[in-house]
Amino acid sequence: MLYRPLGKTGINLSVLGFGTLRLPEHKNVKHRVDPDLSIKLIRHAFELGINIIDTGYNYCGMDGEKIVGHALRGWRHEVYLSSKSPSHLIKKPGDFTKYLKEQLHRMSLDHIDIYHLDGVNYQSVQEIEEKTGWLEEAQKAKEEGLIRFISFYANGTPDDIKQLVNMGIFSAVLCSYNMLDRLNEEAMEYAAKNGLGVIVTNPLGGGAMAELPDKFREQMDIKIRNNIELGLRFVLANPDVSCMLSGMSCIEKLEENIFYAGNPTPISGGDMIKIERVINRLQKMADLYCTECRNCLPCPREVNIPYIFKLYKYLRVYELEEFVQEAYRELEVNPWIPGKNALACYDCGLCEKKCPQEIKIRSQLKEAHKTLSTSRRKKLS
Ligand code: SF4
Ligand code: SF4
Repeated sequence: MLYRPLGKTGINLSVLGFGTLRLPEHKNVKHRVDPDLSIKLIRHAFELGINIIDTGYNYCGMDGEKIVGHALRGWRHEVYLSSKSPSHLIKKPGDFTKYLKEQLHRMSLDHIDIYHLDGVNYQSVQEIEEKTGWLEEAQKAKEEGLIRFISFYANGTPDDIKQLVNMGIFSAVLCSYNMLDRLNEEAMEYAAKNGLGVIVTNPLGGGAMAELPDKFREQMDIKIRNNIELGLRFVLANPDVSCMLSGMSCIEKLEENIFYAGNPTPISGGDMIKIERVINRLQKMADLYCTECRNCLPCPREVNIPYIFKLYKYLRVYELEEFVQEAYRELEVNPWIPGKNALACYDCGLCEKKCPQEIKIRSQLKEAHKTLSTSRRKKLS
């Protein structure tokens, strides 16, 4: 395993961290996590050198933190724990501390090493601060030793990340980054230059890399065996990345990720040029559609325009048919993906006035919905 410093915190993290949003499920009960199997898998990861595990307040139907706390028994001095403050529940003064203590109690632990304000942008941090004073509570929790480092899980634009970095209170940032989605790259560089550790989530694009047609990798003409290796090594080729979190729900996936992430030979400069050439060509096509600047938001009907166009782009540029159809369905059922699908649009036209790309958003949404909601089965019949 390889290790990198987490910004200026003085700690070194394994380049591959264990993400626990999805843990192994019971054989016979769907959507129910199997604690014994999960603990065994997590401890196997620790034995193989992974020294950071990430969880969250309501992961795995509220069982996630309890399982992680249990798995850490006997390992606490060798493994860093990362968890998240449930921002959406922080409504009044004292809530931040109340939930932090609840999480510690659930895990039977006395501190969390890296504590992220979950899913925030610059505005939401300020709004919650005005209502509750949560930043002061976070500082106090740090002084009392309940948290070692305060971080944030970015859910906004790259400019939001920079503004939050400029506040000077965060030691790290957690953000999405992968070969197919490099939107945060410059903001990550900014964070790293300012001494923050950069922890990456979604290094494989939430499954998109696994489904990427082989022809794109073949066009790169490099000696990399498959898309998983390509995706993981691409993220690690970025020197601003301290660590990437990957959800690994079985031993085979865990060992495969460790094998690729642990390769001490970085992607060569020549290979990186070849990779960049293909990605940039695809990216140029992608930028014709939507740059995900989010200027069109908020939509009065909460249509998640950038997310829908991103999926549409993935389909048209990267040919990720099954992946995007599944991800579009998630928009309606997954509480972690905010907003509504294109059907909610009532044609007010507000968004189009704000789009710098002058995209005909309303007609594109209709087209996107038609394509993204067409199931493979329907197409075949
Ligand atoms: S046109 Fe549709 S997507 Fe655009 S702001 Fe109005 S309701 Fe939202
Ligand atoms: S304003 Fe236009 S380019 Fe920006 S996210 Fe919305 S649709 Fe995409």
